[in-house]
Amino acid sequence: MTLYDVILLIWCLFALISFCFLLVKPAPYGRHSKKDTEHKLNGAIGWVIMELPAVLVFAFIYFKGPFLTNKYILTLFILWEMHYVHRTFIFPIRRKKLLKPMPLYIVGLGMFFNVINAFLISYWITFQSKYSEKTLLDPLFLIGIVLFVLGYLINMTSDEKLLKLRQQHSEYNVPKGGLFDYVSCPNYLGEVIEWLGFALVSLSPAAFAFVLWTAANLIPRALSHHAWYRSHFPHYPKKRKAIFPFLL
Ligand code: NDP
Repeated sequence: MTLYDVILLIWCLFALISFCFLLVKPAPYGRHSKKDTEHKLNGAIGWVIMELPAVLVFAFIYFKGPFLTNKYILTLFILWEMHYVHRTFIFPIRRKKLLKPMPLYIVGLGMFFNVINAFLISYWITFQSKYSEKTLLDPLFLIGIVLFVLGYLINMTSDEKLLKLRQQHSEYNVPKGGLFDYVSCPNYLGEVIEWLGFALVSLSPAAFAFVLWTAANLIPRALSHHAWYRSHFPHYPKKRKAIFPFLL
């Protein structure tokens, strides 16, 4: 077992611990933020600082690697940056007047997470993946691309719907239409599908660990949002689930 494997194993263990913790105590940002005396940062600035390491670390390792023009590695680089450039810059800029101030420690934890996660994934892809030209026609590679794009679209369109809702009503409201008729948090569902797709494309253990982390973060948060909707809107649709249609 290499040092990399040991770190990855510990990383997965942290995801499980984090999952248990978040089931009891939702991360205090957005609707779950507390009105206390915690030191806070402007929401949009906090968001950019928190996500920026994901863009930079992956790009740094990729450009250090020996296979810059390899089609397989380039595809993974493009998919990653497609998500994180949007998440780091476009997402907070479009919401700059709406995002609530973020506790400093949430920004710090988010940065720490993004540095480790981007490093583990990009290092494996750049230096340890076993690719060949055939990989591009591998069914898993193609299914992964389809899932990534599908998840990306679900995530983005759902986030946009929430943004429009907030702009129209200036407060929280019950979202309707599309996947919102089935689950309270289709944006989170999209995010899980997206990273599952990425993991299938890369077949990297670190990318599968990221799926675990995404689920560990977003399933408890979806359950908290769902419970919040139910307690704030008496006529909230009863058949709607939290994150997975018909299931949870
Ligand atoms: P939320 O769904 O909680 O909020 C997204 C935005 O929509 C916020 O501006 C929020 O306002 C607003 N909003 C949410 N619900 C409503 C509503 N019913 N009415 C009006 N406005 C609403 O998402 P997060 O902030 O938790 O996450 C944002 C993005 O980041 C998502 O795409 C998510 O998938 C991704 N993410 C990924 C993680 C990962 O581990 N990969 C971890 C966390 C997030 P307000 O902030 O005031 O609540």
